[in-house]
Amino acid sequence: MSEESTIPVGQLSRELSALLTVSRALATAADLQSLCTTAVEALVNVFEPADAGILSLWGEREQALAVQAAIGYDPAILRRSRFRKSEGISGKVFADSEPRLFPTPQAVAAAREDIHPENMVHMEKAAGGVVHPRSALGVPLMLGDETSGVLLLEQWQPGPAFTEADIPLLQALASLVALAADRMRLLAEVERTRAVAKDDHLKSELLSALAHEMRTPLASIKGYSTALLMEEIQWEPAKQAEFLRIIDEETDKLEGIIGDLLESSMIEAGRLEIKPEPLLLPRLARGIVDDVLHYTDKHRFVVSFPPHFPIVDADPRRIHQVLRNLLENAVKYSPHGGLVVVRGEVGQGEVIISVADQGVGIAPENLNRLFERFFRARELEEHVAGSGLGLPIAQAIVQSHGGRIWAESKLGKGSTFYFTLPLGGLSADLESEERNREVFDG
Ligand code: ADP
Repeated sequence: MSEESTIPVGQLSRELSALLTVSRALATAADLQSLCTTAVEALVNVFEPADAGILSLWGEREQALAVQAAIGYDPAILRRSRFRKSEGISGKVFADSEPRLFPTPQAVAAAREDIHPENMVHMEKAAGGVVHPRSALGVPLMLGDETSGVLLLEQWQPGPAFTEADIPLLQALASLVALAADRMRLLAEVERTRAVAKDDHLKSELLSALAHEMRTPLASIKGYSTALLMEEIQWEPAKQAEFLRIIDEETDKLEGIIGDLLESSMIEAGRLEIKPEPLLLPRLARGIVDDVLHYTDKHRFVVSFPPHFPIVDADPRRIHQVLRNLLENAVKYSPHGGLVVVRGEVGQGEVIISVADQGVGIAPENLNRLFERFFRARELEEHVAGSGLGLPIAQAIVQSHGGRIWAESKLGKGSTFYFTLPLGGLSADLESEERNREVFDG
């Protein structure tokens, strides 16, 4: 910009300075829309007689010219119009693929005679009243042999009209605009292709991660069942039972991964169903801890809920899934063991459940990414089984209950995962002992 002011415009030919102005304007445009607006604005400034300008692009599907940008006219109103081939000035320029000069008010009026009444209404509204341009100049936007649109300049005020001499410069500038618009279109296409490729890359990364995850249990299942089937070996009953137990466990793991995948695609498709019912969280938490206990002898568990913890309305199966996932993670990601604390608190209009561990922790830059699908903190990926789907599923479940989920952590010290569930509805009326009994003993 400062360069521009250091070149005395008087020293340059009109053509060169126009070219400079327009190409600078085009170079700074960020998208097709602003490119068109910038171009029309620059051209109206460059051509003395011009008081208004319209840039329209041809739409193959609609078989019509659609206004992209305008100066002098309100573009938002003008964009409602579609000009057919040969309709009005732009339509004629498009049909001929040739520049056309309309040097007098009569010539302009004659060319505009066939404009569809509805389009005329839009034009008048967009101009803030009826205007009778005194002269006009239209050039096609050409790319090679193809005409992609029309650039139209109009003179509204008295003064010198457009002349034949204006045509070459406007045509040259229009080619520049056409090129820039095409470049923008290509860039948008490249961006789209890149996004698809990235998505594909992600998908294939994920597929290979999943294949790896599934291969480990499959290898065990295959190994132990092949061993059991060996006719030449008579396994002792205890060994047989052990092999079968391993096969059983590994099948569960496989089932878990497949279940996560299915669930995750259901959530993606917006088909997560929640069936809320009165739920007592302390009891649910203790039940899950009892289960998880069996998988580890390195961890100690504490479940801490204040007395008279309120009943919430929530889908028991789903909340079980969330809490179980958090507890399993607490165990998985504290390989040296330690204390795992499940705590319940009552907050403002909500309950807050947390699961704290003394494990490997999470680096601050990863804290926000944990809930992305397939995200796994790098240093752990290799050693710990998982799909990177558990937390995103948990988040979807909690959010569809109207709650929030988040994590706090210190790398190397441990992590705490929190989720909230709103109080209200059924849980608002103070639950009686009777209901407690009804729900949990029944
Ligand atoms: P998965 O455990 O199957 O990888 P999750 O979605 O449950 O998938 O967890 C995503 C990632 O978040 C894990 O791979 C791990 O890096 C991190 N993470 C989850 N829970 C913990 C935790 N308690 N401590 C440390 N890191 C955790």
